[in-house]
Order: sequence, then C-alpha cells, then structure tokens
Amino acid sequence: MNKKLYFGTNLKMYKTISDTLDYLSKLANLTKDISRDSLELFVIPSYTSLVKASEIVDQNLIKLGAQNMNWEDQGQFTGEISPIMLKELNLDLVMIGHSERRHVFRESDIEENKKVLAALSHGFTVLLCIGETLEEKKFGVSEEVLRRQLKIGLHDIPVARFHQLWIAYEPVWAIGVNGIPATSEYAESMHRLIKECLSELFGEEAKQIPVLYGGSVNPENAEDLIVQPSIDGLFTGRSAWQAEDFNLLIRGSLLAYQNRISKADACK
Ligand code: PEP
Repeated sequence: MNKKLYFGTNLKMYKTISDTLDYLSKLANLTKDISRDSLELFVIPSYTSLVKASEIVDQNLIKLGAQNMNWEDQGQFTGEISPIMLKELNLDLVMIGHSERRHVFRESDIEENKKVLAALSHGFTVLLCIGETLEEKKFGVSEEVLRRQLKIGLHDIPVARFHQLWIAYEPVWAIGVNGIPATSEYAESMHRLIKECLSELFGEEAKQIPVLYGGSVNPENAEDLIVQPSIDGLFTGRSAWQAEDFNLLIRGSLLAYQNRISKADACK
C-alpha cells in the first residue's frame, strides 16, 4: 500500500536566523516539485529563528515545529516557552522528549506527558521522541523502555486525539557524532513493537500513527530504512543540515520506496 512518507530535521542549536532562512528557502525550492500527497516535510529550527521562518515559509511545503514547550500557558518559568506563545507563531508541530532533553536536561517521562497533554489540548501535532540508551540495550530491556516511554508519555490522552501524534524512535546510542546507526532489521523490529504498543493504547487504527526512525540516518542507510514496512519516515540530523543533501536523501528514499511498492505489486 502506498503511504505518505515523513522526512524531517531538528536543527538543534546550530543555525542562526539568517542561516535558517537561507536553508529553508533553498529546501523549499529544491523540493517544491515533489507532491505533498506522498511527502510530509518538516523542519524544527531554533526558537529565535521561528518568528521570521513562520513568516517566509509556505507551511504547505515545509511544516515548521518547535524543539520543546512548557506545559503551562504562562507563569513563573524563566527561560521557558509556552503553548500560547508558539500558537502565536502559527505553528502546528511541537517536538517533545528529544533525547537531549531527556538526557542532558534530565526530563522525565512524567514531564514529557504533561507537555504532550498540554500540546494536544492546544491543537498541536506532537512529535514524541523515544529511545533506549546503550546501557538499557545491553541489559536487554529496550522493549520495556520503549513501552514505558510510550505508556507514561501518552498517559491519559483521549483516544480521539491519536490523530495528532507522530512518534520518532531514536535509539540514544545511534544519535549524533558518536552514534552508530541502527541496522534496518533492528529498527524495523522496534518500530513493530512501537506500533503494537500504540494499538494497545488507542486501538487498531493507531497503527496509522507515523513512526519515524532517527539516529545517524545518512545517504548510505536511508533507502534500506525507508523500505521497511513499519518505518513511516526518517528524522535526520547531520545529514539533513545542507538543503542540497537533504533533498537528495529525500528523493533517493522516495524512489527506493516506490520501487519496493512496484515490486510488491508485480508479485501479486
Ligand atoms: C537527532 O539528534 O535527533 C538525530 C537524529 O541526529 P543525527 O541524525 O545527526 O544522528
């Protein structure tokens, strides 16, 4: 079955406002001919870039998201950004629980849950990031960790809201400069588990929640990953930060996916 594929990047704390605007206009231009029926493209820049980015970007081509959000609407939370402030920017997407938020800033599953609930109630699409550490993988508890992150992170979400959820599976050991990419077989097995858990939480239809793989995605492994049946998209860091490279990675992946679908159809 042909499905829409998701490609996105988190710019972390790397690009200035002018770098971001330049990147976004190049990316929009390079990818504008690709039908958005088959592609959901999103970029998550720094907060400071979001104001201007939301003015210049056609979000039908590139959806913009925020890297984090507080669960309160306002209050004594110095340095935090509230859902109301993000809504003012005409944003639709917020990322919650990125591995660096969990491991550098020590955010807990309970805090991620408060953020998810607040974001959903304000009408955002939530990209919830989950993933086990290397230590947890070595102890053989990866599956338990993913289940815990999903069950606590998505606790108390009304079933009707599952349409607003995207999940990124990003094993901590696979992310960043020291990351070792997961094999496509390993990623597929974890994505299957995630979809199983989502359907336990929200019913069979929740298998439609897009589950993206992230962690050292690069031009060499992107195609193998995207053709896996339970992988709905790629959440890419370093390999996406030049618009030209990201465009090539997206096109190569879309083509690999199309070829897999055509082969499967021919075998019927
Ligand atoms: C990330 O940090 O979420 C990420 C996927 O980064 P990279 O692709 O650079 O490993």
